[in-house]
Amino acid sequence: MGKVLVIGAGGVGTVVISKMASLPGVFDEIMLASRTKSKCDAIAANVGRNRVKTARVDADNVPELIALIKSFKPDIIVNVALPYQNLHIMDACLATGVSYLDTANYEPPEEAKFEYGWQWAYMDRFRDAGITAILGCGFDPGVTSIYTAYAAKHCFDEIHYLDIVDCNAGDHGRAFATNFNPEINIREVTQKGKYWENGEWVWTEPHEIHKPLNYPGIGPRESYLIYHEELESLVKNFPTLKRARFWMTFSQEYLTHLRVIQNIGMARIDPVMYEGKEIIPIRFLKAVLPDPGDLGENYKGWTSIGCRIRGISKGKERSYYIYNNCSHEAAYKETGTQAVSYTTGVPATIGAMMYLKGIWKKPGVFNVEEFDPDPFMEQLNIQGLPWTELFDVDLEL
Ligand code: NDP
Repeated sequence: MGKVLVIGAGGVGTVVISKMASLPGVFDEIMLASRTKSKCDAIAANVGRNRVKTARVDADNVPELIALIKSFKPDIIVNVALPYQNLHIMDACLATGVSYLDTANYEPPEEAKFEYGWQWAYMDRFRDAGITAILGCGFDPGVTSIYTAYAAKHCFDEIHYLDIVDCNAGDHGRAFATNFNPEINIREVTQKGKYWENGEWVWTEPHEIHKPLNYPGIGPRESYLIYHEELESLVKNFPTLKRARFWMTFSQEYLTHLRVIQNIGMARIDPVMYEGKEIIPIRFLKAVLPDPGDLGENYKGWTSIGCRIRGISKGKERSYYIYNNCSHEAAYKETGTQAVSYTTGVPATIGAMMYLKGIWKKPGVFNVEEFDPDPFMEQLNIQGLPWTELFDVDLEL
């Protein structure tokens, strides 16, 4: 059906390649390119059967990207490198007339700032070039946004209150590790909190608002209100929302480590001089922390991510909870990575499939909730992330 170029050979890239390789009717030809070619080769060797070509590319170097795209001629690029590369890859897509998909919004390396403005600014150029950009197609953002679109389409006349709840109840046995790229993860969770209420953003101190929430099959876990990027596009695309918030679970152990890391300056993203050389502390920290890609082997337990929604249906208030529980052990058995990489890589694969099948194909730049959720929801059940719906239950929020 089509050719795909995947950029980024990390935990998420490993899952994307493993899933795409298992769908030969959709992904005829696959190339994996990343900064370190040996990592691409190792992933390709695991898949076997010469299904996956590999290449080295610096995705911050637009001419290098353009040359690679021109030689492989993909239909779509799946960007699972880091958010810093998004704009460079989008520039290369524009120069070559190739569509684009990612799982996290652009961040400037020198400032931890999460907003879609930079990528939305490509709307006219992508539309004029007749190519599609699918933004935020992991789990959150991604599936959570598609759950919201599905709820708005099938369960409500109007949605009013949205709480996205993200629980990782897994145990990797390490004192401290992040579940995806440590630099991106620590920048995200040390931010001030922010949520949408009555037409405006309300700011909070980091982790200021928290409460125990019950997760299906897991039980109560302390959940912290943080800002997460999908809130920005969801309040724009669902203007009936009176309030939209995002909650994530953290253990006390994790928060203590995080506080120490910040207090001793290791979360700094500005350069400091060390032995006559400039280093960025958070990047040095990444070098000594466990690689998220190596956590899978001993990871036990589940993730549970979903949307708790209240709104009006046929003139009456109703509540709705839709979620997926994913087992770290099952994810590892299938792909060799833990559930956080799995729950991101599977939706990215489905998004690329939606594009290649012509279902999610329109010129311009779009967040995932702007496409028809139904065919995507169907594939979630087939590709390993089944969902459960609960109606008229206590949402606790
Ligand atoms: P990793 O750090 O494991 O992998 C990132 C990969 O990108 C590495 O292989 C790295 O290369 C490569 N890379 C970095 N810079 C460049 C560059 N300039 N050119 C080419 N390749 C480069 O990250 P993850 O796999 O954990 O995460 C991947 C993405 O997924 C991130 O953007 C993250 O924010 C997003 N994500 C989204 C989630 C969601 O639900 N929406 C959840 C989790 C993650 P090298 O190996 O040489 O360092």
